[in-house]
Amino acid sequence: DVAVLPIPAPAGESPRFFLVLFRDRTAERRTEQMRTDFVANASHELRTPLASLAGFIETLQGPARDDAAAREKFLAIMRDQAARMSRLIDDLLSLSRIEMKRHLPVKTPVDLTDIFRTVEDQITPLAEELGVSIELDLPQTPVFVAGEEDELLQVFSNLVENACKYGQSGGRVTLRVSQADERGRSVVDGSVTDYGPGIAPEHVPRLTERFYRVDVANSRSKRGTGLGLSIVRNILLRHKARLLVHSAVDEGSTFTARFPACDARSVEIENSYQKQ
Ligand code: ADP
Repeated sequence: DVAVLPIPAPAGESPRFFLVLFRDRTAERRTEQMRTDFVANASHELRTPLASLAGFIETLQGPARDDAAAREKFLAIMRDQAARMSRLIDDLLSLSRIEMKRHLPVKTPVDLTDIFRTVEDQITPLAEELGVSIELDLPQTPVFVAGEEDELLQVFSNLVENACKYGQSGGRVTLRVSQADERGRSVVDGSVTDYGPGIAPEHVPRLTERFYRVDVANSRSKRGTGLGLSIVRNILLRHKARLLVHSAVDEGSTFTARFPACDARSVEIENSYQKQ
């Protein structure tokens, strides 16, 4: 954008100097475009099951009115479509809540090994249903990161659920917490590995985009919304953590959340100073 502003001249004279301002609005436009795309995608995702529901209602009121077998079948499909809309709305609300909190710092030390144990408990029924066994590889002692417990639970349940659903053929999923050194700084890694089909390299950079799916039909059949990894990304941003994806086709994938290490004692001391 260009703005041209006249610089006031002495009374009675017309201005001879002008201030020319340039403003680069590329970034603003990109954000605006992303917002528009998001609303369009979300509406489309909601409209598809809604159209299917409307279609079945019409059929049930008309041609299938007296067909008991068809009615049962259609009602089951309608229940699934309604459940899909409800999952989508839950994920959309989660995403907007998380985005609003994205700039609030996290301070409370949370033991990541505890988070992993809870996630393992929660995922057990799905893992059993899919025939996937879960392996836990955790250090004996607590490993702290600065974070918010609910959000961290959400990150790792999303990753473990994906590993079970998409990596089902691998038969097992490994959850690991470890400490490492990255360029002299200590970091904490929470990782989830599956031994399934893996992800082709061209898809990896786009995985955390909202509604991005490698295979839409496969994601839908597995009750996916396409929002799971963008929720993960936003939570990790708030935690100053990074998401690393290591994947090889036919071998499997490892999703690692890498956090700055946190000394639980020093965080407590710092907080109590702030209170005074
Ligand atoms: P969805 O709700 O579709 O699971 P996500 O944002 O969680 O959405 O994941 C985006 C896409 O990434 C999935 O649709 C799937 O194609 C792919 N994906 C995620 N995790 C894995 C994995 N462990 N193995 C293979 N593909 C995966």
